[in-house]
Amino acid sequence: MTTINSNIRKVYKKIKEYQQIIIARHVGPDPDAIASQIALRDSIRLTFPEKECFAVGLGVSKFKYYGILDKIENEKYDNSLLIVLDCPNLHRIDGIENLKYKEIIKIDHHPSEDIKGDVDWTDETSCSTCQMIAELVLKSPLKFDTKVAGNLYLGIVSDSDRFLLPYTTTKTFRIIADLIDKSKVDFPSLYSYLYDRSLDEVKFQGYIAENLAVTENGLGYLVIPAQIIKKYNVDLATPSNLINNFNYIKEVIVWTFITEDAKNKSYKVSIRSHGPIINKTASKFNGGGHKYASGARLNNEEEINDFIKALDADCEEYKRASISNIN
Ligand code: AMP
Repeated sequence: MTTINSNIRKVYKKIKEYQQIIIARHVGPDPDAIASQIALRDSIRLTFPEKECFAVGLGVSKFKYYGILDKIENEKYDNSLLIVLDCPNLHRIDGIENLKYKEIIKIDHHPSEDIKGDVDWTDETSCSTCQMIAELVLKSPLKFDTKVAGNLYLGIVSDSDRFLLPYTTTKTFRIIADLIDKSKVDFPSLYSYLYDRSLDEVKFQGYIAENLAVTENGLGYLVIPAQIIKKYNVDLATPSNLINNFNYIKEVIVWTFITEDAKNKSYKVSIRSHGPIINKTASKFNGGGHKYASGARLNNEEEINDFIKALDADCEEYKRASISNIN
């Protein structure tokens, strides 16, 4: 078995070896994806100023605090090392069209899918990709400053949902303590970058609470039409940003928001669970993700109905198994 330390050694060796390094992550980025990508780029630039190192993919204006992404001509970088963060599937990597990289490194905390890295550091026990990058910069000669540390801190806080999710471990806290000690980052001042939101968004959260349907088996679900997104002046990513706020509802063990994406004529789906494993069902509906936090894509009402039925069956099965475990 490859140990974490040997993965760190291998990743560092490859970074040292290559002159051109491109860092990518999944489409529709969240703070963990963006923060890990920009933190690693900035750490490599601090350590090796002579290297050409870029973070690619579509920028998201609400994440501009983390740093600006690079616009490059991919065709010019066919001798590059590609580092993919927070993304297990090739088709969900953002911004690498026409890039003929030489080798690929994957660093990710999702279950493995089709990307097989020349160096493949996959750690499903890690709460976030930022936790892995924090470990990398702490345990290798890569340099970091308060900005890099702050980005990594925000990614960890965000993906662990403020340390509420079960894959938060003592290791998470040790890494964070080390990161703060060594960088002296003023972490309490950073929370507004994650948690500031508009009154429209708060009202939209009220709409979700008012309209969430809950089945007997404990599935909470809501189909959100495009005109509601427009009415509340929010965007397609907002339901995913709010979904963790619906944790700890006694009657709900799995909950999902199915949001109409009028532009792509499909539905963007976010799913969370505090019991049943949901990524198997997600993968049957053009999706995937973690055991308890997944996403999917649906094309029409029929698929929506099938998807809700499948998730409800997961809840039923989980409840039945829990009851038979007690007896
Ligand atoms: P979200 O609900 O958008 O925050 O996504 C939760 C998790 O599921 C993240 O780890 C995503 O990377 C993953 N995910 C979301 N949508 C998809 C999809 N269509 N295919 C595979 N994984 C997805």
